[in-house]
Amino acid sequence: MNIPFSPPYVDDSVIAEVVDTLRSGWITTGPKTKALEEEIKALCGAEAVLCVNSWTSGAMLMLQWLGIKEGDEVIVPAYTYSATALAVLRMGAKPVMVDTGEDFNISVEAVRRAITPRTKAVFPVDIAGFPCDYGAIMDLVREPGIKAMFRPGSLVQQQLGRILVLSDAAHSLGAYCAEGVRTGCRTDVAVFSLHAVKNVTTAEGGAICLNLPAPFDNADLYQELRMRSLNCQTKDAFTKSKAGAWRYDIVGLGMKVNMADVNAAIGLAQIRQYEDLLARRVEVFHLYNEAFSACDWAICPPFEKDGKRSSCHIYALRVKGFDEARRDRMIELVSKKGVAVNVHFIPMPMLSFFKSLGYRIEDYPQAYKNYSCEISLPIYPQLSDEQVACVIEAVKDAYREVMGE
Ligand SMILES: *Cc1c(COP(=O)(O)O)cnc(C)c1O
Repeated sequence: MNIPFSPPYVDDSVIAEVVDTLRSGWITTGPKTKALEEEIKALCGAEAVLCVNSWTSGAMLMLQWLGIKEGDEVIVPAYTYSATALAVLRMGAKPVMVDTGEDFNISVEAVRRAITPRTKAVFPVDIAGFPCDYGAIMDLVREPGIKAMFRPGSLVQQQLGRILVLSDAAHSLGAYCAEGVRTGCRTDVAVFSLHAVKNVTTAEGGAICLNLPAPFDNADLYQELRMRSLNCQTKDAFTKSKAGAWRYDIVGLGMKVNMADVNAAIGLAQIRQYEDLLARRVEVFHLYNEAFSACDWAICPPFEKDGKRSSCHIYALRVKGFDEARRDRMIELVSKKGVAVNVHFIPMPMLSFFKSLGYRIEDYPQAYKNYSCEISLPIYPQLSDEQVACVIEAVKDAYREVMGE
């Protein structure tokens, strides 16, 4: 049986919504993008939501708004997809990498130790869809001693008066970060990714959730950021296309990172059924948990803790005592059965570019440990129970074979 790793969810309603956009006469940023923003806002409870063309550009837009400069530092986990740190580098600042915990997420104590007067932001990442400890991270940046260390370098930084918390919620749309509270509303800024492999997708896309404290007004900030995402043009193309509305101005140096309606349509049709899609992800997660919790060699990924609950984006299985070589061999054997698996993630300090910048994996022992024995199994709503059983069998067989070699 051939089981792909993470195919996008495209049913008739997704196709109908895209066709509707194509036939409407308006295909770039307009009513569908606005409707998607409203759906995401309603789902996660953020004060304002702006859709852009990727997580990466959303993070860059927020760093530009924050007035980040060379010499500034942003704390990120070593264990994440590279975009988390690349967005920081692209904006001229330095990603300060810290180690992760046993649950794959950034260690709050490690964040505390990494804070310097140059720290302008911290990017916790909800790995696999399991939320970070936002309460502890927000408390940390509000501590009087930590605030006293903060050196604002822009008006926005001065108004905030402390380190910005921007959560990389690329994986965690629909997850709970506290009892009954969805991710996206408990950090200053949260950015979801709507990339093709994510739980809800627009092929390429991202959603910026705004929850900044006073004196910021999140509705005003939405308008400002929307303009920034359109090259700082005072009128978007949709408004300008109306008869007589031709005149516009450019009021600054923005970015061109808006989402097109033809993309938004895909996500719009998906998010309308997301509660059901999410419920099936949870079922698949539990089928894996049931099977692997009975194996003394397996470490099942976190699902629920202290009111937090995963969006089940990735099923990150770990094999006790395995090193990279045996993990790689196990992947080879599983793949031979037609089951596509993956590794999340190769820690950034192991990748050439980050090595060339001086990062060393030896400084992140837990990230390395998590990585070296990890295998991500297929998890998505289209999987049948039969396919899940097939994955489980392939993984168990592969383990036995590796052990017998
Ligand atoms: C997918 C992903 C991103 C990047 O998302 P894009 O929309 O492709 O820019 C960032 N962080 C994490 C953890 C991701 O998995």
